[in-house]
Amino acid sequence: MTEHYQHRARKRFGQNFLHDAGVIDRILRAINAKPDNRLLEIGPGQGALTEGLLNSGGQLDVVELDKDLIPILNQQFAGKSNFNLHQGDALKFDFTSLNAAPGSLRVVGNLPYNISTPLIFHLLNNASLIRDMHFMLQKEVVERLAAGPGGGDWGRLSIMVQYHCKVEHLFNVGPGAFNPPPKVDSAIVRLVPHAVLPHPAKDHRMLERVVREAFNQRRKTLRNTLKNLLSTDEIQACDVDGSLRPEQLDLAAFVRLADALSDQLAAAPRAD
Ligand code: SAM
Repeated sequence: MTEHYQHRARKRFGQNFLHDAGVIDRILRAINAKPDNRLLEIGPGQGALTEGLLNSGGQLDVVELDKDLIPILNQQFAGKSNFNLHQGDALKFDFTSLNAAPGSLRVVGNLPYNISTPLIFHLLNNASLIRDMHFMLQKEVVERLAAGPGGGDWGRLSIMVQYHCKVEHLFNVGPGAFNPPPKVDSAIVRLVPHAVLPHPAKDHRMLERVVREAFNQRRKTLRNTLKNLLSTDEIQACDVDGSLRPEQLDLAAFVRLADALSDQLAAAPRAD
């Protein structure tokens, strides 16, 4: 008889393990992995999704932070030639170390809620490597990712992710699918990096700056929140009404503001 390791879910690692076979199957069907795929799973846990991903025949790398889960994963999967385990923090993981071809990496994860936003930003820094991403996230986060302008969900996360990716909110998952059940509803989202950016900024750091500044005080007008970056005339020249609030602007308008900031900085005499 093989030895079975017992694992107690740890809150600090955001451990809510999937145990609903129907939900697991639905996620795997949405991913639809194929034998020639390069797959990367973040936080495999006790292997709920890992097994199905390996059964696709694709090459799977997994990154798990909790050292206590390593023997459990190895016991189940170390014998499979398409399985490669990395123990460590996905937020610090160097995705280029996988030597995946550009646009090939398919990233999957039932993500711990506390790292989901920084992890998505870390992955977007490597967007050129990625073919697509399927994540289980807090439902509210998925709603923010998939939001359009005009509502309360539209903000920094929606804009910066939609700058890089097409976002699809696939389906919701209730707390009962997990052990232990989380206090919030979850949802599966698909993020597909654009082959060609629909609204490329001259400098995406300027886009981050304008968006962060604008949404720092989302109830104020743009004229007000952006006054340290752009004058009312400069905002107007971008075909943006300065009396609007940030949530009323679409991605293209934010990119025009970011480009105006880039132009202004390029024209300004250097301080040194
Ligand atoms: N994929 C499993 C499932 O669906 O049952 C586990 C999901 S659980 C919500 C999140 C997993 O991510 C846990 O196994 C946890 O230990 C791991 N984890 C937490 N923080 C991590 C990090 N920074 N890097 C890599 N894995 C992490």
